[in-house]
Amino acid sequence: MDGRDYRSLSLWFDQLDEALTPRPALSGDIEVDVAIVGAGFTGLWTAYYLQAADPSLRIALLEKEIAGFGASGRNGGWCSALYPVSAATLADEHGRDAAIAQYAAMRATVNEVLRVVADERIAADAAHGGTVVLARNQVQLSRAVDEVAESAEYDLGTALLDADAARGRLAATQVVGGTFTPNCAAVQPAKLARGLARVVTDRGAALYEHTPVVEIQPHAALTRTGRVRAEYVVRATEGYTPTLAGERRTIAPVYSLIIATEPLSDATWDAIGLRERETFSDFRHLIIYGQRSADGRMVFGGRGAPYHYASRIRPAYDRVPKVFAALHAELAELFPSLRAARITHRWGGPLGIARDWHASVGLDRATGVAWAGGYVGDGVSTTNLAGRTVTDLILNRDTELTRLPWVGHRIRAWEPEPLRWLGANAGLRAMTWADAAEARRGRPSRMASLVNGMMGR
Ligand SMILES: Cc1cc2nc3c(=O)[nH]c(=O)nc-3n(C[C@H](O)[C@H](O)[C@H](O)COP(=O)(O)OP(=O)(O)OC[C@H]3O[C@@H](n4cnc5c(N)ncnc54)[C@H](O)[C@@H]3O)c2cc1C
Repeated sequence: MDGRDYRSLSLWFDQLDEALTPRPALSGDIEVDVAIVGAGFTGLWTAYYLQAADPSLRIALLEKEIAGFGASGRNGGWCSALYPVSAATLADEHGRDAAIAQYAAMRATVNEVLRVVADERIAADAAHGGTVVLARNQVQLSRAVDEVAESAEYDLGTALLDADAARGRLAATQVVGGTFTPNCAAVQPAKLARGLARVVTDRGAALYEHTPVVEIQPHAALTRTGRVRAEYVVRATEGYTPTLAGERRTIAPVYSLIIATEPLSDATWDAIGLRERETFSDFRHLIIYGQRSADGRMVFGGRGAPYHYASRIRPAYDRVPKVFAALHAELAELFPSLRAARITHRWGGPLGIARDWHASVGLDRATGVAWAGGYVGDGVSTTNLAGRTVTDLILNRDTELTRLPWVGHRIRAWEPEPLRWLGANAGLRAMTWADAAEARRGRPSRMASLVNGMMGR
């Protein structure tokens, strides 16, 4: 891809005012202390904290395209305290204290990202406005009530909103209530990723772009243009992980797609709300999400794109006209005043899901290979926690972070094909069906709880 194509990756890339010329690729063998495969948020945060801990470390980032190319430069920009496994599930598996600690670390991470953005003068258009999640029928409201009960039990800071309070934050149609948490910031993710890349390269990390790694080996990363020998190699490839030798069933790439309107008038925003640039969603099963961008656009995304056979990733999968049309229709249904607003940007990208929906981070000391990923749709902040944790693991520090329950969690492999394809796409269809059935019948869908159980969520 050339510079112009990179700009078309997302609204966020289109808004960058830097030239997107790739940095030089690796040419020949090198030796470093830490090789990081992938220059998305996971790789960049890891480099950032390693440098902060020990400026003498020799660090090389190996990126197949350019920094921020993956999900990091294309996401919905929720820097949240969300984590893909619920506190109750974590408590069942690891105990209540561990669940509380993981979620407390997530809340602290939102503040840590904002601290770095301020300290490093990264112009990431951040607004710490929290998140409003709407309930738009009685079944969704009962889920909101359950979530607030879980929040109280695990100290998560989510409050219930009555219909007026919810509408006061976001005047969508059919609002019967909702929840609010202060623990989220809206960010411009490509500015954050590219800003981090600038910071770590200014401090001496080598960033080789257009340098795909074909295989991670003990203490080495293999590319077509050179071998990188390193005491530690960090796998930071998230949805792209199946393209690495030996990792075909580690993570399933699932696509999420987004549309963005032209900048809206102040009068339109006065009617809609999101005055503090709260990020927003609702309590349906097939996730939707949005943010009010710094330049006044409605940025609105959701799942619904198919999982592709054998975990394939192709540029064509970033754009699915049927899903864009469904998102546009949903946006108009939520906010009739936006029906005529021009959609200026449509894009998507792969996020990464582990078989049990657990994100994880770890280091195998024997091979020197570290990994972090499986964040599902919650990676904007979780990658920061991962970067700090991988740093502590590599430096052999026993800290609060290295004792969190996601550290060292071993992921069971996804089923071989065609089971993976059949299961993932059947789950997707079931969620769409369950949302419609709940809206029609006014009671929770048994199909949705069955699928949630099977998917480990
Ligand atoms: C459309 C969309 C919306 C989302 N919305 C949100 C949100 O609002 N909030 C949130 O918290 N999360 C969201 N997510 C998830 C979040 O963006 C990701 O979890 C996060 O960015 C993952 O960062 P990463 O660095 O691990 O992976 P990525 O950003 O995907 O980076 C991986 C990098 O590795 C490179 N790479 C891959 N293979 C190789 C190889 N073989 N050799 C070298 N380099 C390689 C890729 O080019 C890429 O740059 C969203 C994701 C998508 C796709």
